[in-house]
Amino acid sequence: MPPSDFTEDLAAALATAGLAVDACYQCRKCSNGCPLVFAMDLPPDQVIRLALAGREADLLGCRTIWVCSSCETCTTRCPNGIDIAGVMDWLKEQAVARGLAVPEPEVRDFHRAFLSAVKWGGGRLSEPLVMALYALKGGRWLKKLRRSAAAGEVATALELLRRRRLRLAPPKRLTGAGEVAAILRRW
Ligand code: SF4
Ligand code: SF4
Repeated sequence: MPPSDFTEDLAAALATAGLAVDACYQCRKCSNGCPLVFAMDLPPDQVIRLALAGREADLLGCRTIWVCSSCETCTTRCPNGIDIAGVMDWLKEQAVARGLAVPEPEVRDFHRAFLSAVKWGGGRLSEPLVMALYALKGGRWLKKLRRSAAAGEVATALELLRRRRLRLAPPKRLTGAGEVAAILRRW
């Protein structure tokens, strides 16, 4: 991969966002503890390494930032206090803000469905709503209906209902719903 011109810009942007990465000494404790590293194209320590090298294009196009579930195991394990999970989130935001192609569109759609459901729920999450929004995004549900692949998901939903793991009733309104709405308006 050719070097990029973004070294200083990327490091500075991360530091400005409270996500300085320059203390990394590549111990790999982050990658060794990551539960999803098997599905990533770059282990977390390499994400930090590439951030230090300013390889912005490589980072914004990688699958890793979308596979990351923000569990924060890496952040907790880092001996230098680097917020690796925060770096992953920041990179996702940059990729979306720039309209770049997302290698894992399902993850992006789920994030959007989740935030829309929280917004419409006044700060609380309605599980059926997030499921419905996710299913509708990108015509996903219609495609499944055409392939007769929706039956399994309906059966799962019914089973979750039976076990009381899924609430159909809308969530109660939050006391601080106005504050949450103000935060979400920025999104
Ligand atoms: S755990 Fe921290 S210091 Fe070690 S490689 Fe990961 S980011 Fe770098
Ligand atoms: S936050 Fe992401 S990168 Fe860090 S351990 Fe969890 S899944 Fe892995």
